[in-house]
Amino acid sequence: MNRRDSIKLAVGASAAAFLPPLVGAGSDAALAQTVAPPAFTLPPLGYAFDALEPHIDAETMRIHYEKHHAGYVKNLNDMATQHASLAGVSMAKTLRAIDKLPTGIQDGVRNNMGGHWNHSFFWQLMTPGGAREPGGKLKAAIEEAFGSLDAMQDAVNKAGLARFGSGWAWVGVGAQGKLVVFSTGNQDSPHMVAGMRGGVLGVDVWEHAYYLKHRSARGAYLKAWWNVVNWDKASEVYEQLLV
Ligand code: MN
Repeated sequence: MNRRDSIKLAVGASAAAFLPPLVGAGSDAALAQTVAPPAFTLPPLGYAFDALEPHIDAETMRIHYEKHHAGYVKNLNDMATQHASLAGVSMAKTLRAIDKLPTGIQDGVRNNMGGHWNHSFFWQLMTPGGAREPGGKLKAAIEEAFGSLDAMQDAVNKAGLARFGSGWAWVGVGAQGKLVVFSTGNQDSPHMVAGMRGGVLGVDVWEHAYYLKHRSARGAYLKAWWNVVNWDKASEVYEQLLV
């Protein structure tokens, strides 16, 4: 340890000595007021930033999660301090009825709650392990709707490539209970699409999802993404949407 480090340690220790003790009813109440839990929280990623290498690189994962997703959560919490009704209701319910919200907050909710929901789902749809292809009812539904898994993947890739600017490509369960491929712009979620029961799979095609590794080659990113799809999660979500 050099002298500079010793000074840093000494300063740290003396600063800690001046912190008020966290005991007594009065200080507990004061603490609760200043650090009330936020209405929305960044969910755990569930795996390490480098767990999806080499298909999705660690640096992209880290920035995507810690900056982009965290940013949507922060903006949403800022809005919830002014509009308490945003908390305590499922995001799906709020997003489905977004046109019933005060007009002044509709764009903010669309972008930030949509972004929070989409990314929370997206992290779960990727995994370093698990089934490497769909099974069970989802497999049968894919074959019924698209003919084959390859054909479904082609349709998703085409939807992602055709999305001008930023957005998502999805596989969802439509009103008739059949799987459909569609795309949404910006952070619009499947819950905002008329007649859609919900999304089963979704891939983020914003440049922030692939530019560090693939630069402008969105198609190469989409091709790589299929290597990390969490088919167990997709099956679970599909079966929930059938009920
Ligand atoms: Mn994103």
